[in-house]
Amino acid sequence: METQKGQESRRREWSLRDFEIGKPLGKGKFGRVYVAREAKSKYIVALKVIFKEQIEKYKIQHQLRREMEIQTSLRHPNILRLYGWFHDDERIFLILEYAHGGELYGLLRKTNYLSEEQAATYILSLTQALAYCHEKNVIHRDIKPENLLLDHEGRLKIADFGWSVQSRSKRQTMCGTLDYLAPEMVENRPHDYAVDNWTLGILCYEFLYGIPPFEAESQTDTFKRIIKVDLNFPSAPQTSAEAKHLITRLLVKDSSKRLSLQRIMEHPWIVKNADPSGICK
Ligand code: ATP
Ligand code: MG
Repeated sequence: METQKGQESRRREWSLRDFEIGKPLGKGKFGRVYVAREAKSKYIVALKVIFKEQIEKYKIQHQLRREMEIQTSLRHPNILRLYGWFHDDERIFLILEYAHGGELYGLLRKTNYLSEEQAATYILSLTQALAYCHEKNVIHRDIKPENLLLDHEGRLKIADFGWSVQSRSKRQTMCGTLDYLAPEMVENRPHDYAVDNWTLGILCYEFLYGIPPFEAESQTDTFKRIIKVDLNFPSAPQTSAEAKHLITRLLVKDSSKRLSLQRIMEHPWIVKNADPSGICK
C-alpha cells in the first residue's frame, strides 16, 4: 500500500472494492473490525467499519474527523497506523495497521501478570510513543490495556486515538471504568499532558500485579481511592524495589510532581529491565 507508493497512494481514493474481507477481529462501541487484504498488493490490514448513524447519534462527526487526521499524521513504531479512510452511504471504513497479537489485555488475563522485563519493555515503548505524541501536542487520555494492541512480533501499538474524550465520559457511566483516570480528571479539574504520566503508573502496576491499583467494589470507592492516592503493593507476586519506586513517582496527586517521560526512560528499573527493541521474548 502506501509503503510502496508513498505520496502517490496517500492521495488515492480507496473503496470497498479494493479489499478482500476476512474474519472479524472484534466489535467496538461504534462498529466492527475485520482483517482484510488489499487486493492488488495483498497487504494485510484491519478494516474498522463504523456506522454513520451511530456517529450522528452521538454527535461525534467533528471529533472523529479530527482524531482521524491526528492518527494519520502520527508515525511511530508503537502507534497503530491509520493508513486512510473511505465511506459509502451508511458506513465509514478505517484502514488500520493489523495487530496480529491482539489486545495486550488478553495476554494479561491469560498470564495474570507480566514479568518485570515484559512490563518494563511495554512501559518504555509506551513512554516513547507518548513522548512523540506530546511533542506533537497530542494527549491520548484513553490509554488502557484494551487500547493497547500487539503486532506479530509482540511490539506494543497504541490504538484508538478516535473519540477518546467522548468515549471516556460514556464509559464512566456505562461500564464504570474509572481505574485509569488521574485525580484531576475524576475531579473534573483542568488537566494536561501529565494525565498520561499518571496512566503509565497505573499500567505499570497492573502489568506487574494483574489488577489496577485503585480497583474497588463500586465506582464511588474507586473514586475515593484515586483522590486519596490510596496505593499499596501486594506481597505477591514479588516485585523489585525499583519497580515500586517508579510507580510511586508516577502516582502522585500533584500532576507537576510526577516523573517526566524523559525521567521514566532513564529510570533504573527501565534501564535494567526494558528491551530497547520493544520486542518481548
Ligand atoms: P472503541 O469503540 O472505543 O474503539 P473498542 O476498542 O472495544 O471500542 P474497536 O477499536 O472497534 O473497539 O476494536 C474492537 C476489537 O477489535 C479490539 O478490541 C481488538 O481486539 C480488535 N482490533 C481493533 N483494531 C485492531 C487492529 N488494528 N488489529 C487487530 N485487532 C484489532
Ligand atoms: Mg478500541
